Amino acid sequence: MKLNILGCYAATPRSFTNPTSQVLEIKNELFLIDCGEGTQVQLRRNKIKFSRIKHVFISHLHGDHCYGLVGLISTFRLLNRETELHVYGPKGIKEIITIQLKLSNSWTNYPLYFHELSSKEPQLIFENEKLSVETIPLIHRIYTNGFLFKEKPGDRKLLINKAVEYNIDVSLYKSLKKGKDVTSESGELVRNHLVTAPPEPTKSYAYCSDTAFNQKMIPQISGATVLYHESTFLEDKAELAFPTKHSTAKEAAQIAKEAGVQKLILGHYSTRYSNINLFREEAAGIFPEVELADDGKVFVFE
Ligand SMILES: [Zn+2]
Ligand SMILES: [Zn+2]
Repeated sequence: MKLNILGCYAATPRSFTNPTSQVLEIKNELFLIDCGEGTQVQLRRNKIKFSRIKHVFISHLHGDHCYGLVGLISTFRLLNRETELHVYGPKGIKEIITIQLKLSNSWTNYPLYFHELSSKEPQLIFENEKLSVETIPLIHRIYTNGFLFKEKPGDRKLLINKAVEYNIDVSLYKSLKKGKDVTSESGELVRNHLVTAPPEPTKSYAYCSDTAFNQKMIPQISGATVLYHESTFLEDKAELAFPTKHSTAKEAAQIAKEAGVQKLILGHYSTRYSNINLFREEAAGIFPEVELADDGKVFVFE
């Protein structure tokens, strides 16, 4: 699992900072999460192939999370994309994009699908044989979802020496990997656990931006491999966090601790702070396994 941060600063794009966008690589799929202004430039800078992006998840309709989307969709058209593109986001996103494409007479020549969201409860929105994606309802000034990406358990690992020792026909190896008991060539039942080992542990990634302190999400993200949680403010500006429905670094750390995640990544920093290390310092007092997102930074989770 690999996370490529394209932008992680709040509000407006600036000379050296970009609004929110990131690419998650999980089980050989690339997912674009949020698409602030400049995302397509950041994708190029980070050498991410446009054609590998087939799914875009938009948390909410504030500009710093979606103003790059129509530009990206339009560039895909100019590059003669043929692959379909799926956009998941709040109700209204289809209208926002289609009115721009319609009035500029530049409708896409590739299939573009919108999956509009309006539920206030967690919802399964994408699934294939290797992973699933569900929404994490967040608390913000407008309707907002985070996203939880979860790997599914893979096949059990075949212990080939044991399989030979138990005299199991090769044609049954597939069943063994699926966890089934089999019968050996000499006719005896062989229990699966004797000839296989458990699959690799699954990984998960919880993306939560933008949100006020929200303990309701804790059971859903419990034990996640990685939690990306916004920290727009430090505690010195805690009085701004609640009215603007954002979080402080301390609050993000509190969520990480209560959910028992393995790692916390902070982002969505207000540009009023010139030293983002202060965010790590504040969070580390509560949750030591904390890292700072920054534009262009790549995290790999083995
Ligand atoms: Zn934002
Ligand atoms: Zn917002």
